[in-house]
Amino acid sequence: NFRCRSAFKLLEIDDKFKVLQPGHSVVDCGAAPGAWSQVAAQRVNAAGTDPELPRGTVIGIDLLNIPPLDGAYFLSSHDVTDPSTHTKLLELLPNHQAHVILSDMAPNASGFQAMDHEKLIVMCLSLIDLAEKILRPGGSLLCKYWDGILAHKLQEKLSSVFSSVRTLKPNASRKDSAERYFLARTYRKPAK
Ligand code: SAM
Repeated sequence: NFRCRSAFKLLEIDDKFKVLQPGHSVVDCGAAPGAWSQVAAQRVNAAGTDPELPRGTVIGIDLLNIPPLDGAYFLSSHDVTDPSTHTKLLELLPNHQAHVILSDMAPNASGFQAMDHEKLIVMCLSLIDLAEKILRPGGSLLCKYWDGILAHKLQEKLSSVFSSVRTLKPNASRKDSAERYFLARTYRKPAK
């Protein structure tokens, strides 16, 4: 039983692209109420449900409260874009590194599509800074965005640090919505 229908989007993407593997460390950005974290916890074996498989880690972050979940560690009332959140994540992650960053974050919609689009793109761009701090080389980033004029900018930025970037529109995402996902794979940490 999932906390939210959004779970089916992540299940669909992960069934196809196998982003989440047992033993992985996952950071789930914009995690409330916790459905993606439920999926991630299952797929990385974060609760140790299968003793034969390596046990992974799921850390969820949200401005809102995230009800507790077996196998997950939640930073409620935390802003993903705040550098102090990045510092906490570094302390919590095994080896200070994540294999996967997930983001289903969304700003409160103002109703002005262009403005909401831009806000979400800026939030997604901040994930690239987060990746530089916590994502291990070879890692993946899956982020939701709303399509619009700045989407290519985000795609370009992602392409500059990941070997492959694809645009996804899961079947579970409403056909008439601007919602899309970028799946960026094989992180190449930029040289300082
Ligand atoms: N993936 C979640 C699930 O499956 O349960 C649903 C996520 S919901 C669509 C988007 C979430 O992003 C909201 O809970 C919102 O509070 C959160 N959010 C928006 N901006 C954020 C920020 N700067 N830092 C952390 N969370 C944020």
